[in-house]
Amino acid sequence: MKMIHKYNMNGYNIVMDVNGGAVHVVDDVTYRVLDYYDEKEMDDIVCLLSDEFDKEKIIEAYNEIKELVSEGLLYTEDEYEYHPSFVNREPVVKALCLNVAHDCNLKCKYCFAKQGDFGGQAELMPYEIGRKAIDFLIERSGNRKNLEVDFFGGEPLMNWEVVKKLVKYGRSVEKFAGKNIRFTITTNGVLLDDEKIDFINEHMHNVVLSLDGRKDINDGMRPTVNDKGSYDIIVPKFQKLISKRPKDKYYYIRGTFTRDNLDFSKDVNHFYDLGFELTSVEPVVDDETNPFALREEDLPKIFSEYENYANELAQRQLNGEKIKFFHFMIDLNQGPCVIKRITGCGAGNEYLSVVPNGDIYPCHQFVGKDEFILGNINSEKIEIPENIKSTFRNAHVYNKESCKSCWNKFYCSGGCHANAINFNGDINKPYDLGCEMQKKRTECAIMIQAKLLTEGE
Ligand code: SF4
Ligand code: SF4
Repeated sequence: MKMIHKYNMNGYNIVMDVNGGAVHVVDDVTYRVLDYYDEKEMDDIVCLLSDEFDKEKIIEAYNEIKELVSEGLLYTEDEYEYHPSFVNREPVVKALCLNVAHDCNLKCKYCFAKQGDFGGQAELMPYEIGRKAIDFLIERSGNRKNLEVDFFGGEPLMNWEVVKKLVKYGRSVEKFAGKNIRFTITTNGVLLDDEKIDFINEHMHNVVLSLDGRKDINDGMRPTVNDKGSYDIIVPKFQKLISKRPKDKYYYIRGTFTRDNLDFSKDVNHFYDLGFELTSVEPVVDDETNPFALREEDLPKIFSEYENYANELAQRQLNGEKIKFFHFMIDLNQGPCVIKRITGCGAGNEYLSVVPNGDIYPCHQFVGKDEFILGNINSEKIEIPENIKSTFRNAHVYNKESCKSCWNKFYCSGGCHANAINFNGDINKPYDLGCEMQKKRTECAIMIQAKLLTEGE
């Protein structure tokens, strides 16, 4: 289906060609002609817009649009749905999330892991389970060279010796297997010390540092198990970590915003004031029985927060500040490959999660849901059930009614499977509130690019 999406933000008239990916910033007359271009003849459009613009301008805009269409930059066809590389894809396992600790030393109020133990018993992953999981990843990764292992929890630093041993094991086997394993760790920072910081900075390709921003916001949501604030314990440790982090390695300071801080741009800026340049603040995902959960009525406030912040961020970047906000980062030239854009995160096929007792799940968000256990890493022969594999494999944008006709499908890739199941009981029915916020973030990200390109010259 040919499709464009157009919107105005911060004075920019932006037009996106959904299938081809081209993005245009156009003048007012072109923007208005596009309201009718694919349905009406030029003379009709001239009549319709003659009160607003000169006839010559309308005709000029019409012809410019026509040229863009003939150059394949507007109203292009969707060529991916039946493309052999999509239809014949054979997913291999590329990434594993190792839940090395089902235990936590904070009790964050919105924690999907139910304060670390996922509603079960507190448990640490034995080294042997992690080792077998790495072997499984290598064995199931086919010709794929670059593999990912994420240390996750609960709080993975609570099982630090096992984390270190697993990194060393991964390093000892990757070359022999012709692989390159990239390790990531997500931590709340409470247990960070010099030894851990140095190890993380040497061995982890990425580190995700969890903090919610301003002290009162963070401490309200992320108390310690003794009901004290965690900000003062954590912030100096995170600052030390990034001050020693090699420049070629990534990190993110990552927070969550709730109804309590719909002014979350202040938290992003607070990160920058603390010295963190790579920032992320995600909307909380929880049902409305929780007082801090986001609701539909919050959307106007969230939208204007995103828009205002997009404008501010672009200006700060134009002024030479190095701040980056993950949700506004978009690469219009070299986005992820087409297959990834269609199929999304790969949970259940390319990405799996292993928990301390060896059970395998489609991803970390399914942990604790017994119906999604795909096998156990201790089994002689691990056969991931075909029905679950294909359910996840087929949950792509062309099989989801609301995604098929959505302009955002190649940017959001069909949303999060776990959220779809949790909110709508159906992997093919995306979480509506998430969609609305996602669409606004895509619009903001593109507007930032427009502003940087037009004003940065
Ligand atoms: S925003 Fe929602 S409806 Fe649109 S493509 Fe993404 S998941 Fe699908
Ligand atoms: S299902 Fe959702 S939480 Fe799980 S990997 Fe995919 S996007 Fe992430």
